[in-house]
Amino acid sequence: MAHDEPQATGPTKLVIRNIGLLLSGDLDKPILDADTIVAENGRISAVGRAKDVDTEGATTVIDANGTAVTPGLIDSHVHPVAGDWTPRQNQIGWIDSFLNGGVTTMISAGEVHMPGRPRDVTGVKAMAIFAQRAFDAFRPGGVKVHAGAPVIEPGMTEEDFKELAAAGVKLLGEVGLGGVKDGTTARQMVAWARKYGIQSTIHTGGPSIPGSGLIGADVVLEADTDVVGHINGGHTALPDGEIRCICEGCKRGLELVHNGNERAALYTLRVAKEMGDLHRVILGTDAPAGSGVQPLGILRMVSLLSSLGDVAAETAFCFATGNTARMRTLDCGLIEVGRAADFVIMDKAQHSAGKNLLDSVQLGDLPGIGMTIIDGIVRTQRSRNTPPATKVPTIVHA
Ligand SMILES: [Zn+2]
Repeated sequence: MAHDEPQATGPTKLVIRNIGLLLSGDLDKPILDADTIVAENGRISAVGRAKDVDTEGATTVIDANGTAVTPGLIDSHVHPVAGDWTPRQNQIGWIDSFLNGGVTTMISAGEVHMPGRPRDVTGVKAMAIFAQRAFDAFRPGGVKVHAGAPVIEPGMTEEDFKELAAAGVKLLGEVGLGGVKDGTTARQMVAWARKYGIQSTIHTGGPSIPGSGLIGADVVLEADTDVVGHINGGHTALPDGEIRCICEGCKRGLELVHNGNERAALYTLRVAKEMGDLHRVILGTDAPAGSGVQPLGILRMVSLLSSLGDVAAETAFCFATGNTARMRTLDCGLIEVGRAADFVIMDKAQHSAGKNLLDSVQLGDLPGIGMTIIDGIVRTQRSRNTPPATKVPTIVHA
């Protein structure tokens, strides 16, 4: 295991008590009537009122001091390369910075910034398996990085996807960032990937950087990936008519990213809402990118969509937690017995005009993070990156 990932040595029992607001991550019931969470050995074992749950024998007790607890945030679209270094903006420690922004799980949309990235089929497969292995064994700050997302190249066969799946690869990187740009070839390869349990995403919109290309609604719909990657562009968005056409033409995930077009994100949200399809909306940063590396990117998306997109803050948090977990079949993202004990404890930022956390987010402010927890282990206390939380939790017994 990675040296920087704290490991429990024996059985653990975490109790978080005195929770003022518990956000579930579940769109159908985003606020839970509970003030206590118990997690044993990294998994949620009970959620309820203090008097109704068994808190005996806790190895760690956290007093939330009346603040809010949410599931750990999930960034559905990142481009990791090696450990906690990104060559895109030549930064070290970017994943740890995201942890300070409440992100406990990341999904790779392709390790495309690898210097000298191979384009031949053997090289593509080797790099994907290497990335999957490396990030599985090394979790910067404890953050779960699901990586090893090959970008499809011409000449790949069904056998290649079978081999990748057997080797542990579970994701495809953004279709369109490699040599395959046409809908027909993409559709065939995406179907092969799906047959062997590999999830897929696609680059939607104009080119991101010199060398990448345009992917329009026709190619997106024909390719039929599981997630419509950055439907709001990365950064250049499709015309509204094409965005609507994608929303209405399939039932796949609608991913809104920070490094995209904000107006197009709000437009997509409005269409999804009209269609009664908010469960399809998931959030990513698409960082690192030319636009930068944004540790608070997911919180900024939650705040943007809630303050300008006419959705309740508790709903917007579901886009970054439960929706993504369900779409990506992850064991985190929801406050539910049996799920991974990944939490963010937050409160309204100091001097926010909002009455409370949810009101402050609806007014467009960012929350202040007081603590992050992954697999039942405290990973950070007061965030070094968010505005300071008004109230923070305390560890009363460890
Ligand atoms: Zn992209």
